[in-house]
Formats: sequence, C-alpha cells, structure tokens
Amino acid sequence: MKILVPVKRAIDYSVKIRVKADGTGVDLNNVKMSMNPFDEIAVEEAVRLKEKGKATEIVVVSIGPAKAQDIIRTAMAVGADRGILVQTDVPTDIGGVEPLAVAKILKAIVEAEKPDLIIMGKQSIDDDSNQTGQMLAALLGWAQGTFASKVELDGGHVKVTREVDGGLETVSLKTPAIVTTDLRLNEPRYAALPNIMKAKSKPLETKTPEDYGVSIAPRLTVVKVAEPPKRKGGGKVASVDELIDKLKNEAKVL
Ligand code: AMP
Repeated sequence: MKILVPVKRAIDYSVKIRVKADGTGVDLNNVKMSMNPFDEIAVEEAVRLKEKGKATEIVVVSIGPAKAQDIIRTAMAVGADRGILVQTDVPTDIGGVEPLAVAKILKAIVEAEKPDLIIMGKQSIDDDSNQTGQMLAALLGWAQGTFASKVELDGGHVKVTREVDGGLETVSLKTPAIVTTDLRLNEPRYAALPNIMKAKSKPLETKTPEDYGVSIAPRLTVVKVAEPPKRKGGGKVASVDELIDKLKNEAKVL
C-alpha cells in the first residue's frame, strides 16, 4: 500500500503572532516556521502503518516556498520515503495557496502517483480552513474519514474512528480513501539525528503548479487582518452573592 501525505509549512504553534502595522497580514520576520501540527500526526500515522508492514511506501508533498523543503526533509527523517515540493512564490503570511488550488494540485499528483490512501491534517493552523481534505475527496470522488482519532486497515477498507459531538463514531471506507487527522490520533516522534542526516539523501522532486496545469490565482481578497481585542484584567469577588450580582448586572450573562 502506498500512502500520500500532504504537509504544509506554517508558523510554529508556539509563536506569538504579530500582525503587520498596516493590517495586510502577519509579520514573518524572524518567525519560526514548522510543519503544521496536524500534518506531523499524519506523517506519524503513515510511518506507524509502514512499521506494522501495512504500507510499503510513503510519499510526502508540500505546496509552498522553496523553504518548505525543510518540512519534507523532517518527514523523511521520521520515515517517509520520498518527497515532492510544488514550489510557489505565493506569500505564506496569510495561509499561502488557497485550499481549492492545493486540492487541485494534489488531485493531479494522486493521478500520477496512484496512492491507496491519503493521510492529511484536518486543518492548517495558519488559515484554519479545514477544507483541503474534503475538497480533494470531492474532486477525486473518494471516500473520506475526517477528524480521525483511530485508523485501522482491514483488507480493502480503512476503519476510521471519529470524534463527534456526542462521542465516537466509527466509519468504514473503501480504499482508495482520504483520512484527515485529529489531535488525539497519535503522538508524533522526534527525528533522531542519524535519521536527519540520512533524510538528506532521500529523493526530493521539485515541481511547479504549471507542471500540473493548475492555476493558483487567488479567489479571495483579504480585506483586513487584525489582532484579537486585548483581554481586560480580572478581579476578585468577596462572596458568591457578589459574583452572581456581577454576572447578572455587569456581565449580563445570567
Ligand atoms: P486546510 O484546509 O488549509 O485547513 O488544510 C488541511 C490540510 O490540507 C493540511 O493539514 C495539509 O495536510 C493539507 N494542506 C493544506 N495546504 C497545503 C499545502 N500548501 N501543501 C501541502 N498540504 C497542504
């Protein structure tokens, strides 16, 4: 079984975002960039399936700037076999290439690579779109198991346990299929230094959106980017009665 894992380079989750003074985007100067956390989980899941002997090859793909090579190498250091970088010069401070164009490029790669399974993040933490997996499933006409907290391969089917409002739902998808990862699917490993060195010699192809005949022209215009309002300081109350009074008369939430 061949698994394709799309990975996105995004601002590291631990960075405190600074909005540009002119409100056109986010300041990326001296900001640490990393693999989108949900995509780290996707890579880990693919590697675990390979370690269990259920997958034979893992291909990672990233659509973004030349520097996205770093995250492809990271994925290869934890066990992916090869990488494809679809290079663009679209600014990445407000999310980079839009989800529909990403999904179209991924569709073309799927047609060339013919994977049996795609494991990808449920969401990128920069644009919070939560769209690419669903759009790709629609474009390919494949089954999708979104927000997976457990993935089991069973012959020509993938059993996906999903976290839904009321508890856990288990669905069975006929392969080829798409799985998007939720936070509790697994805990990604760190790459060991010798594997980081070895990953440097794994194959990495560089392509462009034009190679796949996909236009990445934006369909959206970002009108404004603003910081969230500053939190007002808290206060102490002397009694439960005073708290209830404040909730009723000041906050007006009761
Ligand atoms: P989104 O729909 O933007 O929230 O992204 C959902 C998932 O799609 C991510 O977790 C990635 O697995 C994949 N994805 C989105 N954008 C890219 C990209 N530029 N390159 C590779 N994968 C991407």
